[in-house]
Amino acid sequence: MTSTHSDALFQAALTLFPGGVNSPVRAFAAVGGTPRFLTRGEGSRVWDADGREYIDYLGSWGPLIAGHAHPAIVTAVTRAAARGTSFGAPNSYELELGRLIKQAMPSMELMRFVNSGTEAAMSAVRLARAVTKRDLAIKFAGCYHGHADGMLVNAGSGPLTLGCPSSPGVPAAVAAQTMVVDYNDTDALRAVFAQRGDQIACAIVEPVAANMGLVPPQSGFLSELRALTRSHGALLIFDEVITGFRLGLGGAQARYQVSPDLTCLGKIIGGGLPVGAFGGRAEIMERLAPLGDVYQAGTLSGNPVAMAAGAAQIRVLCEPGAYERLERTSEALEAGLRAAFKECDIPAQLHRIGSIFGFFFNAEAVRDLEGVRRSDAKMYARFFHAMLERGVYLAPSAFEVGFVSLAHSPSDIQNTVAAAADALATLGQRSRRS
Ligand SMILES: *Cc1c(COP(=O)(O)O)cnc(C)c1O
Repeated sequence: MTSTHSDALFQAALTLFPGGVNSPVRAFAAVGGTPRFLTRGEGSRVWDADGREYIDYLGSWGPLIAGHAHPAIVTAVTRAAARGTSFGAPNSYELELGRLIKQAMPSMELMRFVNSGTEAAMSAVRLARAVTKRDLAIKFAGCYHGHADGMLVNAGSGPLTLGCPSSPGVPAAVAAQTMVVDYNDTDALRAVFAQRGDQIACAIVEPVAANMGLVPPQSGFLSELRALTRSHGALLIFDEVITGFRLGLGGAQARYQVSPDLTCLGKIIGGGLPVGAFGGRAEIMERLAPLGDVYQAGTLSGNPVAMAAGAAQIRVLCEPGAYERLERTSEALEAGLRAAFKECDIPAQLHRIGSIFGFFFNAEAVRDLEGVRRSDAKMYARFFHAMLERGVYLAPSAFEVGFVSLAHSPSDIQNTVAAAADALATLGQRSRRS
């Protein structure tokens, strides 16, 4: 294979960054090959360092719901930057984004801006522990809440045991403060609350799990979680870093009609710049410094340029018909992909909620991490590369999802479906021969 500009850039990156990257999944380790260096994005498209064009479904891992370089966002960023990139003092851009969020998500009576989803989840859990004067947190296997120590935790060997570190460097004593329960396993959840309900500060959940591929909540799971946390005096934290403003202006809490005590946001609310937020009931949020005694801070939190980008993107989403259009585009993609999967004889499960989609090369239905693990990640890797060759950029891992944006056109969808049909036909033949 001839070497490319991307190859050369990646070689240089290897001398600067561990694995050549500044976030691990970008390295293509799960699918093999050399990552493409991306040099430009516009609308639904990205271009790599060798000038190749792709229809993009990564959307920077979710933030870019209006597409790349949306003119309204670019203008907002440029204007804000020209007036000063950071003050470390209150600024009116914070008010603008805060109001848009609170209007869309009334459960966020008070909120605080941070710089990432990781910070949002870490701070929300700290606050929940302070408010309840309890230490234990519950998370669900396969849900991701950023890389704070207490969230990098695997299930212990039995359903009611304390968590173990999922990364070296996380102290066992920290991991033991998080219990891990299977996603969608309401019985296990009841058992955990029955046994340790008086020690549980909070349960944190992705209301729609989108970091193990896409795994929707089964009917009754979220409402049971709400009921159990409430009756045991624990707080319910919805990590809506992906679902916030993705599943509609009100996020998953509006779609499923379950109101959490605290919500974490990120990704879309930054319009492609680094922003996170957490918020919820006023009486809880008032425990934060400077009103209360729970410490939390950030030099660049509420950064004017980032706030302006987020507000501009949310204003695009508030335009009449935006989510309806996104739904129609996503529906067309789902229908086309379903037909393509049906044509080939490769077993697969296609999941979609709104503009989030994911597939598992798996014959059985997938409802939790166990099911996800049974899917054929090697087949995904081959499909990923076959799509990349055909000009479609999907997430470089079987355990991630795809995102449709407002910039995807009907012809983008047609081209994507045609590429998938062609890719699957080739892979189907190859798997029959082997
Ligand atoms: C991406 C993500 C995070 C972490 O956000 P970062 O900005 O990458 O720190 C947390 N929770 C969920 C559900 C996410 O998808």
